[in-house]
Amino acid sequence: MSEAAARPTVILDRDGTLNREQSFVCRPEDLVVLDGVRDALARLDAAGYQLVVVTNQSGVARGLYDEATLARIHARLHAELDGLPRAYLHCPHHPEPQLSRSGYAGPCPCRKPADGLLRQADRLMRVDWTRSFVVGDAARDLLMARDWPVRRVLVRCGKDWREQCSALERAQCEPDRICDDLAAAASWILSCPSAGAERAPGR
Ligand SMILES: [Mg+2]
Ligand SMILES: [Zn+2]
Repeated sequence: MSEAAARPTVILDRDGTLNREQSFVCRPEDLVVLDGVRDALARLDAAGYQLVVVTNQSGVARGLYDEATLARIHARLHAELDGLPRAYLHCPHHPEPQLSRSGYAGPCPCRKPADGLLRQADRLMRVDWTRSFVVGDAARDLLMARDWPVRRVLVRCGKDWREQCSALERAQCEPDRICDDLAAAASWILSCPSAGAERAPGR
């Protein structure tokens, strides 16, 4: 009876979506939150969306930073985002054993485009997937969700978006929407009052 109802959720990529794309964010002070992100998250939160960050962080496997440093980076991000995301889920692995510290070599089920981080979110919280969205700047962010009944939004504020679009086209997984940035993505999401409701659940 007291079980919380499943909630519409926005699954957010980190680098190039929330903060400036750079090869690796190795220290909390290297993180630069993009313009308009805080306000965009506040609008989604006010509309009842839960917010979850899912991110590939192979820098852990590569030995560029450790899990404790990544936790400090996420603590800083969380503070800069006014504490709005409910969770930060990451893949610390790298598929190439030669590039990985022991214990972190892939292949793993959580590195995007695999959907292990979505499965983690599904275990950790109640998500109404048919009313949910995935937002990212990379093809792999959207490919992660190809078998999930969500809407997929590509933002153009990170990686070269034309390359990402070509990759998605080749994979026959085109975005439901392409937006300049997270602010525009939030506006589009909020303009979909029955978001996903007309889609048959895929799972
Ligand atoms: Mg990204
Ligand atoms: Zn992984």
